[in-house]
Amino acid sequence: MITEFGSDATREDFCPDLVVGATLASYCLTEVGSGSDAGSIRTKALRQGEKYIVNGSKMFISGAGSTDVLVVMVRTGESGSKGISTLVIPADTPGITYGADLEKMGWHSQPTKEISFENVEVPLGNRLGEEGDGFKIAMRGLDGGRINIATCSIGTAQAALNRTQKYMLEREQFGQNLAQFQALQFKLADMATELVAARQLVRLAAFKVDEGDAEAGVYSAMAKRFATDVGFEVCNQALQLHGGYGYMQEYPLERYLRDTRVHQILEGTNEIMRLVISRRLLSLADIETIL
Ligand SMILES: Cc1cc2nc3c(=O)[nH]c(=O)nc-3n(C[C@H](O)[C@H](O)[C@H](O)COP(=O)(O)OP(=O)(O)OC[C@H]3O[C@@H](n4cnc5c(N)ncnc54)[C@H](O)[C@@H]3O)c2cc1C
Repeated sequence: MITEFGSDATREDFCPDLVVGATLASYCLTEVGSGSDAGSIRTKALRQGEKYIVNGSKMFISGAGSTDVLVVMVRTGESGSKGISTLVIPADTPGITYGADLEKMGWHSQPTKEISFENVEVPLGNRLGEEGDGFKIAMRGLDGGRINIATCSIGTAQAALNRTQKYMLEREQFGQNLAQFQALQFKLADMATELVAARQLVRLAAFKVDEGDAEAGVYSAMAKRFATDVGFEVCNQALQLHGGYGYMQEYPLERYLRDTRVHQILEGTNEIMRLVISRRLLSLADIETIL
């Protein structure tokens, strides 16, 4: 978002460290009263001379408190998506405070917190794009974010599948190993087939994002919906094939399940992915023009 929509100065200020991973950033869109309906955010940025004064709060922010840069969607104008702008704010700017770590079902390797903004001063130059372009910029950022989350599901499901294949060859019941039961062989075949299909769809969507394809948003939504549903289901089946051991923390299957569950919720829920896809398809005179 910063490289594509930031001024030269903003890019120079933030990107060299971000691209080498020396600093990390958080994407701040969600609020307590504004989740799926992201166009209804209320965090306000009032223009005062050469700066904005930001007041409000953001909810469920990944990495909050451990990241260096916040990319924050704020309201600078009318209600609805056209009154939103995007600001890049150093995470330690005076007036920014972080809530306690939210206790989650999974994703324990990173913090998720609420962030509050009280009279936070941000130079006008830290705005990405024009005033009112923020929603569009936020959605463009999500195209890449959705590929990222889809990929996390694919990787976890692959790990679950690898372990299951080994386990089926090792674990014996009824005098033979699990791999001898045809019902389980067929389950493994379906898991692998769906995983490959999901991976290919993610690659297609990633290609479209890289190419700047006009339909990249629809394909990212398709890839995110499909890969996160398949990923969770493969992990669930893998846990089942491990029997009681799959439910134990000694094995990683229960963690895979908890960690992939949230992929169906964040970066836009899978219901919102269906909304994005169906809206676009129904706006076309001929559906085959984009498929
Ligand atoms: C661990 C975690 C990390 C997160 N990290 C970030 C982050 O870094 N930055 C950030 O900005 N946000 C982040 N989020 C927020 C996340 O993007 C939102 O939780 C998500 O968009 C859903 O919003 P909500 O929780 O308010 O649910 P709601 O919008 O209240 O939705 C509740 C249910 O209603 C359904 N629903 C809502 N509207 C419709 C509709 N029109 N049609 C059909 N169904 C609908 C939803 O799909 C969902 O099932 C994170 C969330 C979690 C859990």
